[in-house]
Amino acid sequence: MNAASGKAIVTGLPHSGKTSKLIERFLHSLKERPGERRVVIVPDASHRDYLRTVIMQRGALRALRESEVLTLAEFLRGIADEAGLLDGRRMTSLEELLAFRRIIHGLNSAKEADIPLTLSAARQVKHMVEALRNAGLFLKLLPGNEMPRLPARGAIALKAAVRHLWAMKASQRYDGLLAQELAVLALQEGRCRELLPGLILVDGYYDLHPLHETALAAIAPNARSFFMTAPDLPGSAQAMAFALALRRFGLEEILLEKPANSAVKLLGAVAEVKAAETFTGVAAVVAVQAEGIELRPLPTYIKEAQFIAERVLALHRKEGVPLDEFLVILRKTDARFVAALRHHFREAGLPLIDLTDSSESARAARFLSSCFTFAANPGHESLQRLVHTSCPALLRPSHALFTFLRRMGLFLDAEGMKTFARDNEAEVFAALLDRLVSIKGTDKGNTEWMRNLLAALGREFITALEPHLGDAVRNPIELAREQAALESIMEATASLVGEEMDGDELPALLAEICLYAGGSSRELGAGGVYLVDALAARQWQKHVCFVPQADRDHWPQGREDLSSDEDALRTSPELAGVRLRSPEEHFAFEESLFLSAVTRSTKLTVVTYAKREVEGNDIAPSPFLSLLAPAVGKLGGTTPPAHESSFVSRRALMRHCAGALRYGESAEITKEAAAGVLAMTGNSERASLFARGGLEAEPVGQPFAVPEALTPSSFSPSALTAYRKCPYLYFALNLVKPGDPPESLQEGITPLAVGSAAHEALQEAFAGFPDKADISGIFRKRLAAYAAKCAPLDFPLELERHWAVWEYPLRRAYESAFERLIAGRAIVLKMEEDLRADFADTEGRTCALHGWIDRADKMPDSSLAVTDYKTSDMSGFSSKASEGGQARFGVATAPHIYTMLAAAIAGNDVEKAEFSYHLLRENLKVTLEPAEDTIHQEDGVQAIVESLARSITGIRMGHFPRAPHSSCVDCDECEAYWLCRRDLFGEPLPNEVEERFPEPPFKLAKEKLE
Ligand code: SF4
Repeated sequence: MNAASGKAIVTGLPHSGKTSKLIERFLHSLKERPGERRVVIVPDASHRDYLRTVIMQRGALRALRESEVLTLAEFLRGIADEAGLLDGRRMTSLEELLAFRRIIHGLNSAKEADIPLTLSAARQVKHMVEALRNAGLFLKLLPGNEMPRLPARGAIALKAAVRHLWAMKASQRYDGLLAQELAVLALQEGRCRELLPGLILVDGYYDLHPLHETALAAIAPNARSFFMTAPDLPGSAQAMAFALALRRFGLEEILLEKPANSAVKLLGAVAEVKAAETFTGVAAVVAVQAEGIELRPLPTYIKEAQFIAERVLALHRKEGVPLDEFLVILRKTDARFVAALRHHFREAGLPLIDLTDSSESARAARFLSSCFTFAANPGHESLQRLVHTSCPALLRPSHALFTFLRRMGLFLDAEGMKTFARDNEAEVFAALLDRLVSIKGTDKGNTEWMRNLLAALGREFITALEPHLGDAVRNPIELAREQAALESIMEATASLVGEEMDGDELPALLAEICLYAGGSSRELGAGGVYLVDALAARQWQKHVCFVPQADRDHWPQGREDLSSDEDALRTSPELAGVRLRSPEEHFAFEESLFLSAVTRSTKLTVVTYAKREVEGNDIAPSPFLSLLAPAVGKLGGTTPPAHESSFVSRRALMRHCAGALRYGESAEITKEAAAGVLAMTGNSERASLFARGGLEAEPVGQPFAVPEALTPSSFSPSALTAYRKCPYLYFALNLVKPGDPPESLQEGITPLAVGSAAHEALQEAFAGFPDKADISGIFRKRLAAYAAKCAPLDFPLELERHWAVWEYPLRRAYESAFERLIAGRAIVLKMEEDLRADFADTEGRTCALHGWIDRADKMPDSSLAVTDYKTSDMSGFSSKASEGGQARFGVATAPHIYTMLAAAIAGNDVEKAEFSYHLLRENLKVTLEPAEDTIHQEDGVQAIVESLARSITGIRMGHFPRAPHSSCVDCDECEAYWLCRRDLFGEPLPNEVEERFPEPPFKLAKEKLE
């Protein structure tokens, strides 16, 4: 990299080596002119830390002076310091917020606008003032101290800015921006030139706000040697605007050679899409991939997190990508997504290094904040928050506690809570409430007194929390973190001593300070997958990058800090010359950030987005995806292979094998490999059946010989139901045996888990019959065990919801069944048992029917009542017949088989058996009987037996035609479509179930079990 003048703008596409050129220059200067002063200037701290590491690695340096890599803000503040431009000391960020809070307090217009006296409001105003100052306001104000004419709107921010300037001058306390502004002013006026290092390298900028643009424009001509990088992002309006701004520096331009990589091709395609008139900015986004890029719509953010963890694991294990060569890029830190990512990385045993700024307050800070919020405003909300933050240190979380909170709702008050606490052995919490309520009677404005109370509460809380702080390893770390938080809170509140404060104001302010000052430090580490925000990611380059949450909520990021007031400022004609970023510029900036994120990888970028929220609402994709998806299409986009989670990988493998063996056309797996895999799964009979061609060898319409070893000798209701839904479906699922069904897309606690917990609870409760059991307690315990295996997100609430939904119906169902057994002097004979009965097919060959029953009771009259619990509701039955009405029950074989099994176990000491369903939710007993009026009952039973026998003969004969029962299966949705290749058969398929296995109609009888 050379320029005749020793000054240049180095422009290039991503991966063209712009930063490397600067590093080379830096290292050259270090080696050749060690005495030279040099600096690399970058936009923010994460770039600085990253670049320091890279320079040390490339130069094999053992140390690097801190002053040699700085942010521009640090560099300018250094110049102001050295030049003695400022007297006094720099404020802390909390002091700045308190200063703005005082300014709001004194501004009539702020009072009129009803701006609250909180630190959050102060932060909003501070951000607005900073926007004005970054736009160069003080550069105009400082020299002559002139007041600009106040605009009609946005006056609050402008007045606050001017008052802040006066206050800083008067108090000799300044903020970070004032130091920069004074340094820029000095450089503009030609002062402080001697303080500039000989070599100045500027890297990592994608845009510049006017203050920094002015600063660099003043530095560039005064430096002996000045090189600055500028990204070339075809298709990005922001990058073009940035390049134009730099041209005004009047420096030579060095254009780096275009690298031939996928990122460059992608950017080229993006530019083409943007230029094409057909681009509307709106497009449906589907899964698509091209060289080096993949777009993956996934159901929810939880699935995105799971997908990333599984993909990282697969690439690391199978392709040897080192873990620190993965990068996950977020636009906005979303705590729920980060929690999901952490969970799935932990599950996969992968280290995740979170470099996003998501500091969460320490628990002591949250507790203290809730104490003073309650003291300031003792309402139901603040009390509820206090209860939450007090658990588990001062209050044991229990079902009774949260039921109480939910029941009281808006009527929750300190007195009721105290009574509850005392009744539930929570004296410590009751005493805490007494202390906080008594603050009302004291001098709430006495800062010293309140600080002492704060310190005492903090110490007591940490002592009580200690036994709950994780294991022996985590405990000391967590404890130190809590103590450090309390110390910094005490330090932060020291600045309040001596301040005059309204009695009501002080507790509210203390509550906020606790949260601000009690944050935790960021977790740092090495050797793991990095999680960074998109701004920081602009300098990173890794083999594989993930860009999750590419939806409208996250890309572009909203302008939450500067909302309507900033718009007012921007449009105010009186502020001409103080130009703030327009919405279009903001959008362009976000777009450039997105394009930068998707071009960070050297091998593969995977962009994911969630199609819906966990609650079910649809989420729109990011507008930038509507640009990226067609661009990927232009690069020859193809559909990426369906993502199979590890849970279903065996099923997927079997599916591929079966498909390959049958048709030999799978690109991914050869017939030989498929046969090998099938053989490895333990069944060479099945492997050879498929290796010979499987059904390919089947004469049309003729049964084929199924090897004896593959023919089942016993049949469950679900297997026979599958055969009667579609014989080919039975073949695909039961002979190919692809494994368990795919995981449900439902997040959290599934209906299956709830059903299993209810079944187990009833089993445990009836195990002690005739003693009565606490069914609710057992159910809660069982469901909690299932929930613990699910994703932990929103788990307590979801668990609460399921308990609340099921507690009453389950208790009612249990108690009514219990009372009936007692009244009928019955005994519980069997529970959760696999009943079996011999059966003969139409050719007289014997086999077994079997099925699990939930409970069988022996009645005093020697009859047997067999019960199957159902957690689903009546709708499944109602769709077929109303009470007393008649219906064919289609292909469903379970009621018939269970009735036959129950009758079969009626032996010597049991005279007859009856089968019924117990619908737990509705507490209904449902029985099916052959309809008497159309057919003689015994004939009806015989017809069912024959129908089942024909089905079993069909399976044994290898009769597996494609014959879907149209009202039960839909070929388009069928899981076996891949093997059956329904698409090869254009004609309508026969419904053989109806033709070959007719059934007599049945009658539905139901009885309420109250
Ligand atoms: S796709 Fe249709 S015909 Fe083929 S197995 Fe499934 S239901 Fe049967």
